Amino acid sequence: MGVMAVVGANWGDEGKGKITDYLAHDANFVVRFQGGSNAGHTILNAWGKFALHALPSGVFYPHVHNVIGPGVAVNIKDLLRELATLRERAVPTPQLRVSERAQVVLPVHVQLDRYEEERLGANQFGSTRTGIAPFYADKALKIGVQISELFSKNRLRERVERALALKNVLFVYGYNQPMVDPDALTETLWHEAAQIADYVADTTTLLQNGWRDGQSIVLEGQLGALRDPDHGIYPFTTSSSPLAGFASVGAGIPPYAITRIIAVTKAYSTCVGAGPFVTELLGSDAETLRERGGDAGEYGATTGRPRRVGWFDAVATRYGCAVQGATEVALTNLDVLGYLEEIPIAVGYRIDGKVTTQFPTTTQLTAAQPIFEMMPGWRTDIRAIRRYHNLPSATRHYVERIEELIGTPVHLISVGPEREQLLVKE
Ligand code: GDP
Repeated sequence: MGVMAVVGANWGDEGKGKITDYLAHDANFVVRFQGGSNAGHTILNAWGKFALHALPSGVFYPHVHNVIGPGVAVNIKDLLRELATLRERAVPTPQLRVSERAQVVLPVHVQLDRYEEERLGANQFGSTRTGIAPFYADKALKIGVQISELFSKNRLRERVERALALKNVLFVYGYNQPMVDPDALTETLWHEAAQIADYVADTTTLLQNGWRDGQSIVLEGQLGALRDPDHGIYPFTTSSSPLAGFASVGAGIPPYAITRIIAVTKAYSTCVGAGPFVTELLGSDAETLRERGGDAGEYGATTGRPRRVGWFDAVATRYGCAVQGATEVALTNLDVLGYLEEIPIAVGYRIDGKVTTQFPTTTQLTAAQPIFEMMPGWRTDIRAIRRYHNLPSATRHYVERIEELIGTPVHLISVGPEREQLLVKE
């Protein structure tokens, strides 16, 4: 299988968890390379339904080495909580390694995220308030705390002091909140560190060796291309790059090691949080699609927030596939559209009277109106179908039209949330 990246072509929640879970069956390593516990992957399997936020999606296979790479924002509490959930639900203990170079999400990052969103009020970014933006800001400012620094108390105390110096000024004078005591925070981190010590490793060497030995590695992205700080709908983006191009950086393997880039997209669109969303549906049409979508309606795996829903956007998805460098696409949730007589696909945007098929910057995107092409619906339940040629011809037309519009072949098609509800299009 080699090295492959499973990444989002859109706004996140495309169903990457399910696709990674499927691919993990034949993998030696499943690696998280960016982001933190600010998004969730929903996985349904023999043990039940799980929303993974911090752990890689390979944790349900005892043979898989699950790696949290240097690029990840590690919230130790969330990690321990998720491991405990697996134990409580009788999932065999997973093999887990956390990079000594990854950095830690501090409680003050979560506080700062919350205070700032509250300050912004109606103008807030729709942050999940898990501290991700302040975490990556501190990393860039070089005042973050690396996992390797957790195990020397003096070093840790020094780093905590650095991290708190300006924040305490901001807490007191900017947000009217109490100061954080560096001694107390050092103690908290010191105790948390002891609980993850057994997992901490030089994951870069581990993965480099695995790659050289020809082992199969799945790099698991979080969120999607349109949330990338450089290529996405800035400022409604996340704070680390969810692109396959960053996977080699965030995991620690050579860029040329990655030979397959699987961009995951839903057969319709969903988006959590703020920002322009051109094909968005409102009112009862949105309600119907939201209730039928996903495994139990379209509600955020981390926040429970209702997801914004809309029709498939070929302009956004072609762009998403391009910036991901997708070699193939996994199309999920195709079963959900089975209730429709006709299915719209956005094939272009009208912006200030001009038609374009290029995905523009956020400034222009806010003025974009979708241009729809109507596809016939199939009005059938396709969840039990396992072969592409057994799908109704209207369903195949829908898939093939999407392929044509986004310029990337669809290889995997998901027709339900369960592990086996998947078909391979040759
Ligand atoms: P991720 O973050 O990209 O892994 O996506 P999420 O897990 O947040 O959202 C995907 C949702 O779609 C979850 O509720 C999944 O259980 C569900 N899901 C995935 N594939 C399918 C599918 O083919 N059909 C249906 N009906 N639900 C799916």
